[in-house]
Amino acid sequence: MTERKTRTKLVHDGIRRSQYGELAEAMFLTQGFAYPSAEAAEARFLNASDDEFIYARYGNPTTRMFEDRMASIEGTEDAFACASGMAAINGALTCLVKADDHIVAARQMFGSCLHVLKVLQGFGVDVTLVDGTDLDAWRAAMRPETKVCFFESVSNPGLEVMDVAGIVKIAHEGGATVVVDNVFASPIFSRAVELGADVIVYSATKHIDGGGRVLGGVVLGSKEYIRGPLETYVKHTGGAMSPFHAWVLLSGLQTLDLRVRAQAANAAAVASAVAGHEKLARTVYPGLMDHPQHALAMEQMGSGGTMLALDLKGGKEAAFRFLNALQIVSISNNLGDAKSIATHPATTTHKNLSEEEREAIAITPGLIRISMGIEDGGDLIADIKGALDAA
Ligand SMILES: *Cc1c(COP(=O)(O)O)cnc(C)c1O
Repeated sequence: MTERKTRTKLVHDGIRRSQYGELAEAMFLTQGFAYPSAEAAEARFLNASDDEFIYARYGNPTTRMFEDRMASIEGTEDAFACASGMAAINGALTCLVKADDHIVAARQMFGSCLHVLKVLQGFGVDVTLVDGTDLDAWRAAMRPETKVCFFESVSNPGLEVMDVAGIVKIAHEGGATVVVDNVFASPIFSRAVELGADVIVYSATKHIDGGGRVLGGVVLGSKEYIRGPLETYVKHTGGAMSPFHAWVLLSGLQTLDLRVRAQAANAAAVASAVAGHEKLARTVYPGLMDHPQHALAMEQMGSGGTMLALDLKGGKEAAFRFLNALQIVSISNNLGDAKSIATHPATTTHKNLSEEEREAIAITPGLIRISMGIEDGGDLIADIKGALDAA
C-alpha cells in the first residue's frame, strides 16, 4: 500500500485498542499500572516494552496514542507529549545544554520562549539573539561551543518567516542541533523534517486542540533524542501531559487538516480584502506578495498560514477602538482556534518586554495579531472591515 496521506493519518494513526475493541480512542485516566508479580514490576523497570507503562509522568496509553499520531504526521521517529508548549520548549532546549554551552536564537520570539533563554543564561549558558531572517547573522554568531540553534519557523507576532533549510545548513556545519518552534506553521504546513530540522516543538494548545480547551505540547525528533535526553529530562522534572488532555487533543487532531486549511483560506481572503485600508500602516501576511519572505513562505509552507497582523496608524488608541468594535472576532490571546481571535501584543503577550525591545522586533503600539478561525470568510471580512472603519 502507498504511504497514507496526512488526513488519513490524523484520523487513524497511533490508535491502540483495548480488549473491548472500542472505535474511539479510549481515555486511560490512570497514573499508575499494576504488575502481576514483583518479578514483573522488576522486569518493567528494567526494560519496558513499547506497550508497557510505569507511571503517567513517564508515559500512558492515551498520551502514547497522541505521541504516535504526532510522530506519524510530522515524519519523525518519535515524540514526547508535554504539559504545555512551554514545558515542551523548556525540555527540548534544557536537555541539550549545560553551563558554558552556547545557544543562537532568533530575537523575534514568543515572550515565554525568551524567558526560558534568560533562565538558561542564569545557569551559565551563553545566548546570542540574532535577526532570524538574516543567514549571515546566524553564521556570524556560531562558535565552537554552540550546541543549539533555536527559532520559530514563523515568528510570533511579527510573522517573519525563517529559512529553515538555510539555518539548518549553518547549524549542522557548526555541529549544533536545530530546534524549531513550529506553532505558527502548524503540522499541516510544516516541512521542517524534510528541511533537516532535528527537533520540532508544538504548543498543542493552539491548532492541534483547535477548540481552546486544554494546554499541551509535544517534542518531536529521533528516537535517540526523544527516548534519551528529552524523556529523561521531562519525566524527572514533571512536565508530562495529562491523559485527559491527550484524549482531547487526539480528537482535535482528527479535524486538524480541515480546520487549518479553512483558517488559512480565511486569512488569505481577509488579508487581501483589508490590505491598503486607510487606517492601516501595514498588513502583514506571508501570503501577500509584499511580505518580505513571501516567496520563502510559499516554498516552505505552500501557504501564508492562519495568522495575520494589522498595524493601525493611530497607535494604541486606534488598536483598542478596533478591538472593541469587533463583533465576531474575540479579544483573546489564544491562537489556532476555530474561533477568530485578535490580540494586542504590546499590552498583553509581549508586555514584559521593554519599549526598545518591542521596537526592535516591530511590535508597535498599533499592532494587532489576528488568528483566523473557520467562520464564514465573508462574515469575517465584514467584521474586520467594519472595525477598521470604526478605528
Ligand atoms: C503559545 C505558544 C507557545 C507556548 O505554548 P503553551 O501551550 O501556551 O505553553 C510557544 N511558542 C509559540 C510560538 C506560541 O504561540
